[in-house]
Amino acid sequence: MLELRDVYKTYPGDPPVESVRGVDLTVEAGDMLAVRGASGSGKSTLLHLMAALDRPTSGQVLLAGQPVQDLSDRELAGLRAHRVGVVFQQFFLLESLTAVENVATGLLYRGVPGAQRREAAVRALQRVGLGHRLTHLASKLSGGERQRVAIARALVGRPAVVFADEPTGNLDSVAGGEIMRLVQELNNEGTTMVIVTHEEAVADACRRQIVMRDGQVLP
Ligand code: ADP
Ligand code: MG
Repeated sequence: MLELRDVYKTYPGDPPVESVRGVDLTVEAGDMLAVRGASGSGKSTLLHLMAALDRPTSGQVLLAGQPVQDLSDRELAGLRAHRVGVVFQQFFLLESLTAVENVATGLLYRGVPGAQRREAAVRALQRVGLGHRLTHLASKLSGGERQRVAIARALVGRPAVVFADEPTGNLDSVAGGEIMRLVQELNNEGTTMVIVTHEEAVADACRRQIVMRDGQVLP
């Protein structure tokens, strides 16, 4: 599903920042992996590399059989559109759109006709427990509901793997717990998950954990 071999990411600067240094990692289909570590340890950089949002400076990232480091921008965009779902701490919803419209944008780059996009979006929202909020504007939803919409948007294209970067970071502990229960259910149904978090409770809800420090995965 996902394999990293001796992956480095260096940001140019004076001095350059080596955010990820020599990471080897395998994620199997059906896995639920937590990536833990202090702020600045390289978790988000690693997530960007795993989700094909960025290319490694050196090393190999194999995502759903595709070598990320060798793909053109266009091929990367296609890989992301078809194989990857991403959820961020800040939700990144379009505030003036409804929940359904936000979720349907998850299929925009796949050439799915509008009516089908909408149907799939409704199903995804029902799956995350928001069947009663379909036509609410994103700006009118609570934090927990917003993150459910973002999860539905990540799931709507039936990706091979869903990545989440601090998905509970902007939520209170009750809403955060609910989001983690939903994520566990989705994993039990077969969705492969990689979750970046600095929260122990979130990591403990996952099947497996790795810890990063200074850009490296601790042994
Ligand atoms: P974490 O998610 O664990 O907090 P990050 O991956 O965001 O860590 O950052 C790791 C290191 O890389 C930090 O020192 C950060 O300042 C640096 N960094 C992250 N993104 C960039 C960037 N686009 N340009 C330069 N440095 C960056
Ligand atoms: Mg981060």
